[in-house]
Amino acid sequence: RVNRSKMPKYPGLERWILLEKMGDGAFSNVYRAKDTTTEYDEVAIKVVRKFEMNSNQRANILKEVQIMRNLDHPNIVKLVSFSESKQYYYIILELCPGGELFHQIVRLTYFSEDLSRHVIVQVAKAIEYLHETSGVVHRDIKPENLLFYPTPFIPSKSPKPVQPGDEDKEDEGEFLPGIGSGGIGTIKIADFGLSKVIWDSQTMTPCGTVGYTAPEIVKDERYSKSVDMWAMGCVLYTLLCGFPPFYDESIQVLTEKVARGQYTFLSPWWDDISKSAQDLISHLLTVDPEKRYSITEFLAHPWIRETDEETTAAA
Ligand code: ADP
Ligand code: MG
Repeated sequence: RVNRSKMPKYPGLERWILLEKMGDGAFSNVYRAKDTTTEYDEVAIKVVRKFEMNSNQRANILKEVQIMRNLDHPNIVKLVSFSESKQYYYIILELCPGGELFHQIVRLTYFSEDLSRHVIVQVAKAIEYLHETSGVVHRDIKPENLLFYPTPFIPSKSPKPVQPGDEDKEDEGEFLPGIGSGGIGTIKIADFGLSKVIWDSQTMTPCGTVGYTAPEIVKDERYSKSVDMWAMGCVLYTLLCGFPPFYDESIQVLTEKVARGQYTFLSPWWDDISKSAQDLISHLLTVDPEKRYSITEFLAHPWIRETDEETTAAA
């Protein structure tokens, strides 16, 4: 399946063998690659087409790398190294062989409450580290930027029955990564392309100020963190039912719905999902950022603290 001769060659990347394309973006391709010096170490390489970018866009790539350099958390994709040639930037990253969480949602239709909790708690741990330890807001949390490192492959059926009409969508005998035993594996947040440093983790003060911080700056900082919390609400909603809380074919209508916080727990899809999960989502999809849950409040919510047994007992 993997055709190596079709892989592009990049100057300065001779140390790596590109194995397959894993994803792409506006200015980049991401490849799975093998280190020829160690024979087996696999990485992900984000090849960014520098020559297509203006100076502002280039500066943003360097900022993305600088932010990642300072992060160290099991639920955040690690930066291995960074280099560049005349035309390209090469961002060498820890490989997430499972790919995007997004594909798993499409594949399974939706996740059980236990599996959704298992996923969102890992995302939350990464966000807690970013917000409370590193002074970083991610600003682009979505299923495409949530990758995973699968637990060993275990034969498993879909955790919930397939919906009517989708009967032939998933072969029951198919091997799914770890689902049903130890969850899906380790979730890792990727793509710090839109991230921002809000405060200096060394001095613990808001960025660029030294003790004369105005209240609106302190408020701004809180607002920017709440952006990630809203996005987490959207992700959790999508995990549990398989479709996003806000959708419309018209961008204008969609924007209006988001601005008003117009969403519902649509029947019949939400009928069997616990009130506790719905309560948590409603505290995230709160239009007023002052009232929206912080990461600390999120992690203290009963639905997050619930164990598998309690969920089963309540059902
Ligand atoms: P962009 O800013 O263009 O969205 P991303 O960093 O999100 O760039 O990478 C684009 C896609 O490449 C991701 O959505 C994912 O599918 C894949 N990808 C990125 N990093 C990795 C990685 N470390 N391991 C596996 N796949 C990755
Ligand atoms: Mg991305």
